[in-house]
Amino acid sequence: LVSRDHKNDDTVIKVKQAVFGGSTPILIAGPCSVESRDQLLTVASALKKKGVTVLRGGAFKPRTSPYDFQGLGEDGLKIMKQVADETDMVTISEIMSPDKIDIASKYIDIFQIGARNMQNFELLKAVGQSKKPVLLKRGASATLEEFKLAAEYILDQGNDQVMLIERGIRTFEKATRNTLDISAVPILKKETHLPVFADVSHSTGRKDILLPCAKAALAAGADGVMVEVHPNPPVALSDAKQQIDINEFNSFWQGLMDSNLFL
Ligand code: PEP
Ligand code: MN
Repeated sequence: LVSRDHKNDDTVIKVKQAVFGGSTPILIAGPCSVESRDQLLTVASALKKKGVTVLRGGAFKPRTSPYDFQGLGEDGLKIMKQVADETDMVTISEIMSPDKIDIASKYIDIFQIGARNMQNFELLKAVGQSKKPVLLKRGASATLEEFKLAAEYILDQGNDQVMLIERGIRTFEKATRNTLDISAVPILKKETHLPVFADVSHSTGRKDILLPCAKAALAAGADGVMVEVHPNPPVALSDAKQQIDINEFNSFWQGLMDSNLFL
Protein backbone atom coordinates (compact mmCIF):
# COMPACT_ATOMS: atom_id res chain seq x y z
CA LEU A 1 0.00 0.00 0.00
CA VAL A 2 2.89 2.39 0.62
CA SER A 3 4.50 1.62 -2.70
CA ARG A 4 4.43 3.69 -5.87
CA ASP A 5 3.46 0.49 -7.67
CA HIS A 6 0.19 0.57 -5.75
CA LYS A 7 -0.39 4.33 -6.04
CA ASN A 8 1.84 6.59 -8.09
CA ASP A 9 0.41 9.98 -7.07
CA ASP A 10 2.10 11.69 -4.13
CA THR A 11 0.06 11.50 -0.94
CA VAL A 12 -0.74 15.02 0.21
CA ILE A 13 -1.91 15.45 3.79
CA LYS A 14 -3.83 18.56 4.73
CA VAL A 15 -4.19 19.47 8.38
CA LYS A 16 -5.81 22.86 8.86
CA GLN A 17 -3.60 25.31 6.95
CA ALA A 18 -0.62 22.95 6.71
CA VAL A 19 -0.09 20.88 3.57
CA PHE A 20 2.37 18.00 3.95
CA GLY A 21 3.79 16.54 0.78
CA GLY A 22 2.55 19.43 -1.34
CA SER A 23 4.67 21.74 -3.45
CA THR A 24 6.04 23.76 -0.51
CA PRO A 25 8.29 22.17 2.11
CA ILE A 26 7.14 22.24 5.72
CA LEU A 27 9.19 23.13 8.76
CA ILE A 28 8.18 21.21 11.89
CA ALA A 29 9.66 22.92 14.92
CA GLY A 30 9.27 23.11 18.67
CA PRO A 31 10.79 21.87 21.87
CA CYS A 32 11.82 18.29 22.56
CA SER A 33 9.41 18.22 25.53
CA VAL A 34 6.50 20.40 26.53
CA GLU A 35 7.68 21.75 29.89
CA SER A 36 5.26 24.57 30.69
CA ARG A 37 2.73 26.84 29.04
CA ASP A 38 5.21 29.68 29.18
CA GLN A 39 7.98 27.66 27.55
CA LEU A 40 5.78 26.40 24.72
CA LEU A 41 4.08 29.72 24.06
CA THR A 42 7.44 31.51 23.87
CA VAL A 43 8.70 29.08 21.23
CA ALA A 44 5.42 28.88 19.33
CA SER A 45 5.10 32.66 19.08
CA ALA A 46 8.65 33.01 17.78
CA LEU A 47 8.07 30.26 15.23
CA LYS A 48 4.77 31.70 14.12
CA LYS A 49 6.43 35.05 13.50
CA LYS A 50 8.54 33.35 10.84
CA GLY A 51 5.56 31.66 9.28
CA VAL A 52 6.08 28.22 10.80
CA THR A 53 2.70 26.51 11.14
CA VAL A 54 3.58 23.12 12.60
CA LEU A 55 4.49 22.86 16.28
CA ARG A 56 6.09 19.76 17.79
CA GLY A 57 6.48 18.94 21.48
CA GLY A 58 6.61 15.74 23.48
CA ALA A 59 4.25 15.03 26.36
CA PHE A 60 4.90 11.29 26.60
CA LYS A 61 8.67 10.99 26.40
CA PRO A 62 10.53 7.77 25.54
CA ARG A 63 13.53 8.36 27.80
CA THR A 64 16.48 6.00 27.92
CA SER A 65 16.65 6.24 31.71
CA PRO A 66 13.57 5.75 33.88
CA TYR A 67 14.98 8.43 36.19
CA ASP A 68 14.91 11.14 33.53
CA PHE A 69 11.97 13.50 32.92
CA GLN A 70 9.15 11.41 31.45
CA GLY A 71 7.04 14.27 30.09
CA LEU A 72 3.96 16.05 31.42
CA GLY A 73 1.56 13.50 29.95
CA GLU A 74 -2.01 14.69 29.42
CA ASP A 75 -1.18 18.05 31.04
CA GLY A 76 1.43 18.56 28.34
CA LEU A 77 -1.11 17.81 25.63
CA LYS A 78 -3.51 20.31 27.18
CA ILE A 79 -0.80 22.95 27.06
CA MET A 80 -0.16 22.10 23.41
CA LYS A 81 -3.79 22.56 22.54
CA GLN A 82 -4.04 25.89 24.35
CA VAL A 83 -0.90 27.24 22.71
CA ALA A 84 -1.91 25.95 19.28
CA ASP A 85 -5.31 27.58 19.60
CA GLU A 86 -3.70 30.87 20.59
CA THR A 87 -1.11 30.83 17.83
CA ASP A 88 -3.17 29.03 15.18
CA MET A 89 -0.70 26.19 14.68
CA VAL A 90 -0.93 22.49 13.86
CA THR A 91 0.43 20.15 16.56
CA ILE A 92 2.47 16.95 16.54
CA SER A 93 3.14 14.90 19.66
CA GLU A 94 4.36 11.39 20.33
CA ILE A 95 2.19 8.67 21.74
CA MET A 96 3.77 5.52 23.08
CA SER A 97 0.82 3.25 23.74
CA PRO A 98 -2.57 2.48 22.18
CA ASP A 99 -4.41 3.41 25.38
CA LYS A 100 -3.37 7.06 24.94
CA ILE A 101 -4.89 7.45 21.48
CA ASP A 102 -8.34 8.57 22.64
CA ILE A 103 -6.96 11.09 25.12
CA ALA A 104 -4.37 12.46 22.70
CA SER A 105 -6.96 12.76 19.93
CA LYS A 106 -8.72 15.44 21.95
CA TYR A 107 -5.68 17.70 22.03
CA ILE A 108 -3.34 17.18 19.10
CA ASP A 109 -3.57 17.07 15.31
CA ILE A 110 -0.90 14.56 14.34
CA PHE A 111 0.40 11.50 16.20
CA GLN A 112 4.12 10.91 16.20
CA ILE A 113 5.37 7.34 16.51
CA GLY A 114 8.90 7.53 17.83
CA ALA A 115 11.95 5.70 16.60
CA ARG A 116 11.82 3.30 19.56
CA ASN A 117 8.29 2.28 18.69
CA MET A 118 8.68 1.97 14.94
CA GLN A 119 8.07 -1.75 15.21
CA ASN A 120 5.56 -1.64 18.06
CA PHE A 121 3.06 -3.41 15.86
CA GLU A 122 0.08 -3.12 18.20
CA LEU A 123 0.66 0.64 18.39
CA LEU A 124 0.98 0.84 14.60
CA LYS A 125 -2.28 -1.05 14.16
CA ALA A 126 -4.00 1.16 16.72
CA VAL A 127 -2.99 4.44 15.05
CA GLY A 128 -3.93 2.80 11.78
CA GLN A 129 -7.48 2.59 13.09
CA SER A 130 -7.52 6.23 14.16
CA LYS A 131 -8.48 9.07 11.86
CA LYS A 132 -5.46 11.26 12.66
CA PRO A 133 -2.40 11.65 10.44
CA VAL A 134 0.68 9.83 11.69
CA LEU A 135 4.32 10.92 11.54
CA LEU A 136 6.33 7.70 11.69
CA LYS A 137 9.96 7.94 12.72
CA ARG A 138 12.54 5.53 11.39
CA GLY A 139 13.93 3.17 14.01
CA ALA A 140 17.56 3.84 14.82
CA SER A 141 18.52 0.43 13.51
CA ALA A 142 15.76 -0.11 10.98
CA THR A 143 16.41 -0.81 7.34
CA LEU A 144 14.35 1.10 4.82
CA GLU A 145 12.47 -2.11 4.07
CA GLU A 146 11.53 -2.44 7.75
CA PHE A 147 10.59 1.24 7.84
CA LYS A 148 8.29 0.87 4.84
CA LEU A 149 6.70 -2.25 6.30
CA ALA A 150 6.06 -0.43 9.58
CA ALA A 151 4.19 2.24 7.59
CA GLU A 152 2.39 -0.56 5.78
CA TYR A 153 0.88 -1.68 9.10
CA ILE A 154 -0.76 1.73 9.50
CA LEU A 155 -2.10 1.92 5.96
CA ASP A 156 -3.31 -1.68 6.17
CA GLN A 157 -5.69 -0.65 8.96
CA GLY A 158 -7.25 2.00 6.75
CA ASN A 159 -5.28 5.11 7.68
CA ASP A 160 -3.45 6.40 4.61
CA GLN A 161 -2.40 9.69 6.19
CA VAL A 162 1.13 8.60 7.00
CA MET A 163 4.35 10.59 6.79
CA LEU A 164 7.84 9.17 7.12
CA ILE A 165 10.73 10.84 8.88
CA GLU A 166 14.39 9.88 8.71
CA ARG A 167 15.88 10.67 12.15
CA GLY A 168 19.36 9.18 11.89
CA ILE A 169 20.57 5.63 12.26
CA ARG A 170 23.17 3.97 14.46
CA THR A 171 26.57 3.63 12.90
CA PHE A 172 30.16 3.53 14.16
CA GLU A 173 30.47 7.29 13.70
CA LYS A 174 30.70 9.28 16.93
CA ALA A 175 30.87 12.82 15.56
CA THR A 176 27.09 12.90 15.45
CA ARG A 177 24.48 11.40 17.79
CA ASN A 178 23.19 9.27 14.92
CA THR A 179 24.04 9.26 11.24
CA LEU A 180 21.60 11.20 9.08
CA ASP A 181 20.94 8.82 6.21
CA ILE A 182 20.43 11.30 3.41
CA SER A 183 20.05 8.53 0.87
CA ALA A 184 16.90 7.41 2.70
CA VAL A 185 15.17 10.54 1.45
CA PRO A 186 15.37 9.99 -2.32
CA ILE A 187 14.88 6.23 -1.89
CA LEU A 188 11.70 6.66 0.16
CA LYS A 189 10.46 9.36 -2.22
CA LYS A 190 11.10 7.06 -5.16
CA GLU A 191 9.64 3.90 -3.67
CA THR A 192 6.70 5.28 -1.69
CA HIS A 193 4.08 7.94 -2.32
CA LEU A 194 4.20 9.20 1.27
CA PRO A 195 5.58 12.58 2.41
CA VAL A 196 9.18 12.24 3.61
CA PHE A 197 10.85 14.41 6.23
CA ALA A 198 14.27 14.66 7.86
CA ASP A 199 14.79 15.32 11.57
CA VAL A 200 18.05 17.24 11.71
CA SER A 201 18.08 17.51 15.53
CA HIS A 202 17.86 13.86 16.60
CA SER A 203 20.00 12.68 13.70
CA THR A 204 22.93 15.00 14.25
CA GLY A 205 22.50 15.73 17.95
CA ARG A 206 24.42 18.96 17.40
CA LYS A 207 23.41 22.54 16.75
CA ASP A 208 26.24 23.60 14.47
CA ILE A 209 25.40 21.56 11.38
CA LEU A 210 21.61 21.80 11.32
CA LEU A 211 21.46 24.16 8.39
CA PRO A 212 23.66 22.21 5.94
CA CYS A 213 21.92 18.97 6.91
CA ALA A 214 18.49 20.52 6.39
CA LYS A 215 19.57 21.90 3.03
CA ALA A 216 20.92 18.51 2.03
CA ALA A 217 17.64 16.81 2.94
CA LEU A 218 15.60 19.35 0.98
CA ALA A 219 17.95 19.15 -1.99
CA ALA A 220 17.50 15.37 -1.86
CA GLY A 221 13.75 15.81 -2.17
CA ALA A 222 12.47 15.93 1.40
CA ASP A 223 9.02 17.40 1.94
CA GLY A 224 10.28 19.19 5.00
CA VAL A 225 12.49 19.23 8.02
CA MET A 226 12.06 18.84 11.79
CA VAL A 227 14.13 20.85 14.23
CA GLU A 228 14.04 21.19 18.04
CA VAL A 229 13.76 24.72 19.44
CA HIS A 230 13.72 25.68 23.14
CA PRO A 231 13.67 29.14 24.74
CA ASN A 232 16.59 28.24 27.02
CA PRO A 233 18.23 24.98 25.88
CA PRO A 234 20.77 24.64 28.74
CA VAL A 235 17.92 24.14 31.22
CA ALA A 236 15.78 21.95 28.93
CA LEU A 237 14.41 18.82 30.63
CA SER A 238 15.36 16.66 27.63
CA ASP A 239 17.82 16.94 24.74
CA ALA A 240 19.38 20.07 26.24
CA LYS A 241 22.52 19.74 24.14
CA GLN A 242 20.91 19.61 20.73
CA GLN A 243 18.06 22.12 20.98
CA ILE A 244 18.58 25.58 19.50
CA ASP A 245 17.33 28.79 21.05
CA ILE A 246 15.13 31.31 19.31
CA ASN A 247 17.99 33.43 17.96
CA GLU A 248 19.64 30.32 16.57
CA PHE A 249 16.34 29.29 15.07
CA ASN A 250 15.97 32.66 13.39
CA SER A 251 19.41 32.23 11.77
CA PHE A 252 18.55 28.69 10.74
CA TRP A 253 15.30 29.89 9.21
CA GLN A 254 17.07 32.73 7.41
CA GLY A 255 19.64 30.29 6.04
CA LEU A 256 16.88 28.11 4.65
CA MET A 257 15.14 31.08 3.08
CA ASP A 258 18.40 32.27 1.52
CA SER A 259 18.99 28.81 0.08
CA ASN A 260 15.91 28.96 -2.16
CA LEU A 261 15.16 25.37 -1.15
CA PHE A 262 12.16 26.45 0.86
CA LEU A 263 10.10 27.99 -1.91
C1 PEP B 1 11.29 13.00 19.41
O1 PEP B 1 11.18 13.43 18.25
O2 PEP B 1 10.78 13.58 20.38
C2 PEP B 1 12.05 11.77 19.67
C3 PEP B 1 12.05 11.19 20.86
O3 PEP B 1 12.74 11.34 18.60
P1 PEP B 1 13.14 9.84 18.17
O4 PEP B 1 11.93 8.99 18.40
O5 PEP B 1 13.49 10.01 16.72
O6 PEP B 1 14.30 9.46 19.01
MN1 MN C 1 14.28 15.33 21.50
